[in-house]
Amino acid sequence: MSAAPGRFATYLAGLPPATGAGEVDGAAVDLALARPSLGSLPVLLSPAVLPRIEELAQRAREVTLQRFGRAVRLFAPLYVSNACLSSCTYCGFSRDLDVVRRTLTVEEVVAEAQALTGRGFRHLLLVSGEHRVEVSADYLVACLDALRPFVPSLSVESQTWSDDTYARLVAAGLEGVVHYQETYDRARYAEVHRAGWKRDYDRRLSSTERAAEAGVRRLGIGALLGLSADWRADVLGVARHAMWLQREYWRTEVTVALPRLQPSAAGLPPLVAVSDAEYVQALCALRLAAPEVGIVLSTREPAPLRDGLARIAVTSMSAGSSTEPGGYRSPGAAQEQFSISDERTPAQVAAMLDAAGYEPVWKDAFPLVPSASGAPRSSIRR
Ligand code: SF4
Repeated sequence: MSAAPGRFATYLAGLPPATGAGEVDGAAVDLALARPSLGSLPVLLSPAVLPRIEELAQRAREVTLQRFGRAVRLFAPLYVSNACLSSCTYCGFSRDLDVVRRTLTVEEVVAEAQALTGRGFRHLLLVSGEHRVEVSADYLVACLDALRPFVPSLSVESQTWSDDTYARLVAAGLEGVVHYQETYDRARYAEVHRAGWKRDYDRRLSSTERAAEAGVRRLGIGALLGLSADWRADVLGVARHAMWLQREYWRTEVTVALPRLQPSAAGLPPLVAVSDAEYVQALCALRLAAPEVGIVLSTREPAPLRDGLARIAVTSMSAGSSTEPGGYRSPGAAQEQFSISDERTPAQVAAMLDAAGYEPVWKDAFPLVPSASGAPRSSIRR
């Protein structure tokens, strides 16, 4: 049975469809650059802006410096399992694929985390496929219990959970969740999510709001550009979602990511190619339209592009990533989720930031405002 639409879905239903800006002239671009907003995002994303990409990037850089300063948070994904009961046509962990599967023991998770803290990381993102038996709530609680003593910031990118389970994970030390919608186009979503828990669009869409209600303090959302035919509509979907979450859960940090579809064992090609220039446009436009939202950039993107975007719009980066379970200590023993492009070590990425005049942040100086534990749910809403 499909989940009922959540509050964001209800809000979204009242908005005009996420479509392009149509014919855009120079005056409309001037106005959107001078007074950017969510309403002008379709113009900022239009092809008419590409000839003025330098101007757009300069405006985005100014806003990023004003709002976030010269700090870029570094984090690492820690893949705990590639077991999955869902079938997503773009993913190397899809249940239909005959690949080597592995779920780490809690002791192995600790060993991977020690390898990462040894490289400097204090923000770890535990990542898994959707397998309610191999990666159960009990398993994640055991991982959080084991990691909490030496990892100050722990987030999870796994399946969506019930409200009670989110609360349980928060009590065990969970700080953040990441749930990408992948695409906000319902029809395309149904095409690429063929079976399993993730097939339920509304359940997926409401997951971050339910996590926030349970006291999760960092919310990550995103779309996989190239998965649908209209990447601009997906950027607009992400922006609307992020701004809504920020308004509704104002004590919660909201970040977005816009990875581009990359080669994986699934072999699904992008429906539409997003060029490097368009990618820069997407991130810069998002920065202007949603100035308070953190922007995350993964190692899927090549090093030169990452280096440029770190100076313009990005506030958080992964570095030295492995996308296979156990990949930091024994690479090659299991299937990776997707290929990475930037293969530099975390120290090299930190040195790049340093040389550019930015501060690589391994650990936040000030933790987020404590939220919900025991507090009424409404206390974390505006
Ligand atoms: S995207 Fe997630 S749910 Fe879908 S196949 Fe991959 S790991 Fe499983």
